[in-house]
Amino acid sequence: MKQLSHLTSLRLRLTVGIAAMSILGLSGVVLWISWQMQSILVVTHKNNTRYIVGRFPSDVEIYSDMVSLEEGTQKAIDNLSNPQTLLWVKTPQGEIFAQSQALQMGMTGSNLVSLTDIPPQPELQKVNNRYWLLCSTKLVVKGVTLGNFYIAQDITKDQMMFWGVMRSLLIISVMATILMTIAIAWYIQTSLTPLKRMSQMTKDIDPETLGKVQLELENAPSEVKELAGTLQTTLTRLAHAWDNQRQLVSNVSHELRTPLTVVSGYLQSTLRRGNNLTDLQREALETASSEADRTVQLLQDLLDLARAEHGGMYFNLETIVLNELLTEIEGMVHQYPLPVTVSLPTQVIKVKGDKNRLKQVFLNLIDNAVKYSHSPEPIILKLSHNKQQAKIEVCDRGVGIPLADQTRIFERFYRVDEARSRNIGGTGLGLSIVKTLVEGMGGTIHVISGPHQGTTFTILLPLF
Ligand code: ADP
Repeated sequence: MKQLSHLTSLRLRLTVGIAAMSILGLSGVVLWISWQMQSILVVTHKNNTRYIVGRFPSDVEIYSDMVSLEEGTQKAIDNLSNPQTLLWVKTPQGEIFAQSQALQMGMTGSNLVSLTDIPPQPELQKVNNRYWLLCSTKLVVKGVTLGNFYIAQDITKDQMMFWGVMRSLLIISVMATILMTIAIAWYIQTSLTPLKRMSQMTKDIDPETLGKVQLELENAPSEVKELAGTLQTTLTRLAHAWDNQRQLVSNVSHELRTPLTVVSGYLQSTLRRGNNLTDLQREALETASSEADRTVQLLQDLLDLARAEHGGMYFNLETIVLNELLTEIEGMVHQYPLPVTVSLPTQVIKVKGDKNRLKQVFLNLIDNAVKYSHSPEPIILKLSHNKQQAKIEVCDRGVGIPLADQTRIFERFYRVDEARSRNIGGTGLGLSIVKTLVEGMGGTIHVISGPHQGTTFTILLPLF
C-alpha cells in the first residue's frame, strides 16, 4: 500500500512530468541542431557541385579552342578535380570520354563510373563505405551534345565529423538530462517538505490534542502557509465543538443523575414497604427501578469518563497486594451464574493503585466475561508477574470478539453486535472506563480473542 502511494505521490508525478518535458525539449533542440548541421554541410557541397556544373562547359569550350575537344575536356577535368572532387564525361553510348586521374585507380573509381542512376540534382549516396554527393548533367559544348558530365564529391570526412559532433551532443544531452532530473527531484522534494511537515504535525492529532496543535511552518511557500492557516482554524473550531460536546454530556449527566437517584431510592423504598401491591404493580415497579439503576450507572460512567478526560479523575493511591484483592473479588462474585476460578502465585504481588477503582475494573471484566459466555466453562482470573509488571488475565470461553472489532471495543458506546448486546444489557461504556482507569494508574490493557474460542483481557500494572 505504501509502495502504491509512492507511485501516486505528487513528488513522483511532478518529477516524472517535468523530467519528461525537459527530455522532450532537449531532444527537440538536439534534433533541430543535427538537422541544421546536416543541411549546412550538404548545402555547402551542393553549391560547390552546382558551381562546377555551371563552369565546366565553358572551360571545355575555352580549352578546345586551343587543343582538340577530347584534350580540352580532359584539361578542364584536371583543372577542376581534386582528391575530394572526381569528374568524368561519358559519350551518349556510355563510353568514358574523359575522367579524373584518381578514377582510373582503385575499386572506388570503377564503382563510381559504373553507376547508372546518378540524378541531375546533387544526392548523397554511399559507395565503397564512403559518402559521395553525386550528380550528372548533359554536356553541351558549342551547341553540340557531347554526352553526360558526372561529378562525385567525397564528403566522408565532413560526414564523420558530423557524426562525431552528434555523438558528443547525445552524450552531453543524456548527462544533462540525468543531472537535470536529479536536480528537479531534489528541488521538488525540498518544495514539498512543508507539506510533509504539515502532514506529520496533523497525523497524531486526537480529541485530546485537537486544541493544542500549532501548525507553524517557517519558510514555507505562501500557499502552504495559507493551507496550514485554514487547517489551524478548522482544528480550533473542532476543538471548541468537541469541548462543548463534552461539557454538555458532563452537565447533562450531572443534572440527570441526582433526580434519577432520588427516583430510584423512592422506587426501592416503595417496593420494600409495599406489602399490599398487586403482582402487576410490583413487576412494573421492579422494571422501573432496574431501568432507573441502569440509567444512573450509565450517567455515572459518562461522568467518570468526562472527569478522566479533563484530568479530573481522582485516584486514591495506596499499596495493594493483588493476591488479597483477587481473593476478595472471588468472594464477591460467587453468586454469578458462572463459576469464577482465581489462580494465584505463591509470591506476593504488590502494585500502587486505587483499590476501589481496581475492583471496578476486575468486576467490569468478569461481568463482561459472564455476559458474553454461553457455555458453563468457568471464568479464570489469573495473577502472575514479570520483571517490572504485574499481570492479571481475565479469560472466558465465550462468544469471542472478531479481529476487526478488537481495536474498537475500547471506544465509547462501541458494541460488537448492537442487537445482541442490547438484549444482554450494558451501555458500551464499560471497556472505555476500564481502559481509562487502568491507564490512569500507569497500566495497559490488551485483548486476545477469537470468535467462539473465548476472550482474554490482560492488564499489566507497574510493580510496587
Ligand atoms: P457493554 O456494556 O456492551 O458490555 P463494553 O464496553 O463493556 O460494553 O464492551 C464493548 C463490547 O465488547 C461489548 O458490547 C461486547 O460486544 C464486546 N465484549 C466485551 N467483553 C467481551 C467478552 N468477554 N467476550 C465477548 N465480547 C466482549
